[in-house]
Amino acid sequence: MDYASGDVYIWTPIIIRGQRRSAHSLIDMQQHKIWFNGELIPFEDARIHVLSHVVHYGSSVFEGIRCYHTERGSGVLRLREHMRRLIDSAKIYRMEIPYSLDELEAAVLETIRDSGLESCYIRPVVFRGMGSLGVNPLKNDVETVIAVWEWGAYLGAEALENGVDVQVASWNRMAANTFPALAKAGGNYLNASLVKMDAVLNGYTEGIMLTTDGYLAEGSGENLFVIRDGVIHTAPVGMSILPGITRESVLVLAEKLGYEVRETRMPREALYVADEIFFTGTAAEITPVRSVDKHTVGSGKRGPITEKIQSAFFDVIQKGDDPYGWLTMV
Ligand code: PMP
Repeated sequence: MDYASGDVYIWTPIIIRGQRRSAHSLIDMQQHKIWFNGELIPFEDARIHVLSHVVHYGSSVFEGIRCYHTERGSGVLRLREHMRRLIDSAKIYRMEIPYSLDELEAAVLETIRDSGLESCYIRPVVFRGMGSLGVNPLKNDVETVIAVWEWGAYLGAEALENGVDVQVASWNRMAANTFPALAKAGGNYLNASLVKMDAVLNGYTEGIMLTTDGYLAEGSGENLFVIRDGVIHTAPVGMSILPGITRESVLVLAEKLGYEVRETRMPREALYVADEIFFTGTAAEITPVRSVDKHTVGSGKRGPITEKIQSAFFDVIQKGDDPYGWLTMV
């Protein structure tokens, strides 16, 4: 079985559908040190025990951040907001991170500088380590790790221009009062990976999850925007979505460009009658959706509003044109 048209991390350089995919292979990653509880250590030394709590119960919170090689130099996009969300996620799960926001930011920058990478993906993860092996994690160690590696476009470079084909997922986003959607927690991604695997095995790039009462939530790893008659709609925080940092950036850019934006509940069929749809995420950036459940979206190409917002976003990450203070230069 081939799960490889999406986002899987390929651990050895192999050929998939005629394409050599070694961008985030083990070999590439091995060159970079890993920040582990306050120290940069060699890749091969960054190990945990098989009886760590996280292995059994998914007790981790994490972030995905990007450092871009802009015309002004390397800059990390919205570092503070990401690290703040990490701290929030940990707080929700009663994990005490023994580092301040400033220290975590400095640790990210130190790890990037040490790697020598001009652009990279950054993965901070905080998890429950050794202690007891019961469900109660309160006595287990809290470990903090930061890794960096090279990474290209998540849904494919071509997708940024031509869009992706997606389906509505048969798995829902978790209901309020089941798992906290505001936390970016490892365990949430069991649900996300069901969605992603189904989509890929059905020949789609991504799945869109509904809430348990049937309204549009988000993709397995992206927030969702739907445009009709020039108005931009997205689900509000509180409708089981992750409060995406890119989502928030897009809200700022859309407003600056003069568009009306509504954070609102949307039915599934809003997708089928939309003029434009796009995903947002650190990995996906701003990716147009070309079809949903084989309904063509608009003209079947990236729409004009999507293009304008993408272009404003790319001005920040490519030119380093940053009136918003979103980049932390490395
Ligand atoms: N929703 C989910 C479920 C995600 O995993 C992500 C990726 N972190 C997003 C939305 C987008 O969030 P962000 O823009 O902060 O990367």
